[in-house]
Amino acid sequence: PVNLFGELRKNSMGVNFSNDNELKALAEAVNAKSGTWSAGPLVPGGESKGPTVQVTNPVDRRQAVGSYVSADAPLVDKALANAVAAQPAWDRLPAASRAAILEHAAELLEARRGEFIALCVREAGKSLPDSIAEIREAADFLRYYATMARRLFGHPEQLPGPTGENNQLFLNGRGVFVCISPWNFPLAIFLGQVSAALAAGNSVIAKPAEQTTLIGHAAVKLLHEAGVPAEVLQYLPGDGAVVGAALTKDPRVAGVAFTGSTETAWAINRTLAARNAPIAALVAETGGQNAMIADSSALPEQIVKDVIASAFQSAGQRCSAARVLFVQEDIADKVISMLAGAMAELKVGDPGQLSTDVGPVIDDDALKILVDHAARMDKEAKKIAEAKLDPANTAHGTFFAPRAYEISSLDVLKREIFGPVLHVIRWKGSELEQVVDQINRTGYGLTLGVHSRIDDTVEYIRSHARVGNCYVNRNQIGAVVGVQPFGGESLSGTGPKAGGPHYLVKFATERTLTINT
Ligand code: GLU
Repeated sequence: PVNLFGELRKNSMGVNFSNDNELKALAEAVNAKSGTWSAGPLVPGGESKGPTVQVTNPVDRRQAVGSYVSADAPLVDKALANAVAAQPAWDRLPAASRAAILEHAAELLEARRGEFIALCVREAGKSLPDSIAEIREAADFLRYYATMARRLFGHPEQLPGPTGENNQLFLNGRGVFVCISPWNFPLAIFLGQVSAALAAGNSVIAKPAEQTTLIGHAAVKLLHEAGVPAEVLQYLPGDGAVVGAALTKDPRVAGVAFTGSTETAWAINRTLAARNAPIAALVAETGGQNAMIADSSALPEQIVKDVIASAFQSAGQRCSAARVLFVQEDIADKVISMLAGAMAELKVGDPGQLSTDVGPVIDDDALKILVDHAARMDKEAKKIAEAKLDPANTAHGTFFAPRAYEISSLDVLKREIFGPVLHVIRWKGSELEQVVDQINRTGYGLTLGVHSRIDDTVEYIRSHARVGNCYVNRNQIGAVVGVQPFGGESLSGTGPKAGGPHYLVKFATERTLTINT
């Protein structure tokens, strides 16, 4: 097979947790500047009369983190006009020039990671290790798409043809791309979408999640500083129903990159389809109903360690997170009791502290869905464990104690539960086929974890489960750019995979040139 990743294996460096000075500097950065961030639309020649929204800390809603000005409808129109005018020149730049700008942005990001980590912790409530990983992943996306842009867009592909005829295939930007990003990876997915669209020669209007507008603002400023012209990359924070809807129904939009719920992806798809306008490209990365299957050949200790990470890291707020553990009945009692023991040790609290395992969930709406789900499970399922919450540290934030429940079948779960709730189902050794059928029947197809030392079992699951990312004998989160290209199928998304070799092509249009020589 062709090695598509060889030269890209160098991913961004992390932080040495055993180096006290590095950690001290990090903690200082996180605690600096609290309450002083501000953000707003970045649209040359335009100003918004939209409302100013206060941003508070999910750890303690009494603490201000900053504020942002929302975009209003006239500003959306101005941004689109700017984007249309600026795109052709950006597209005509050599791909290597666009790539160099993205690589410069990666350098700047790493040099200033303290501030970005602080933003991830304070605005999004992400833990320190998660926030460090977020900066690394964002830098990886910038560099990966820069490399891919050079490779794919740097020169036309020479095609065969009869003597006297020269055939070439060119890739160009589609036009104006709208990037609508989620709050759970407010920097990595935000910059991933934006840098891919830019690398391919599009102008971009970025619409961040309402919950994480401060981080998005800082990221756009960084790209401007690195050399992306202000009209080529514009920023429109604001209400999805106002800004997102106005953008997606506009005929000037040639493509949309979206990460978020399946329901919102449907709505965007419908809006794009209803326009009498160029048929838009949609790259959607949506939810999952992700399972882990463990058989009795696996080590209970390893299953528990990996399911804890997969279900509860990032407070379960990853679309890759494990929601259901299928555990073979021979080892089920042992695994369940070890799981309960491990959950009793989970420390829920301030994500700015290194000792914290699980931080807050993003907001009151997210918390309410989890509380309602737990109330239903308390009645209908068997509770395995509920982690401790220390009221002294969590009373004023949006905290939810991780929980695990035993249920009878995946059909019990009607929708994706986006938070730290794990469901456990026992299965018999003869039922592997039915287990995989249940997983496929959900209609989602994002991640799958497998714990087994039986090759035939692993191969059966690999060849029958319809999922985008399958992980064997490890956790199922934290896909690495260029190493585990990430994304699902069916209700989980359109593909192509983020951080994979085919992603940029979806942001491009193909043109051939035939010259009779
Ligand atoms: N790429 C992330 C992971 O592998 C998940 C992205 C998401 O939650 O949208 O964990």
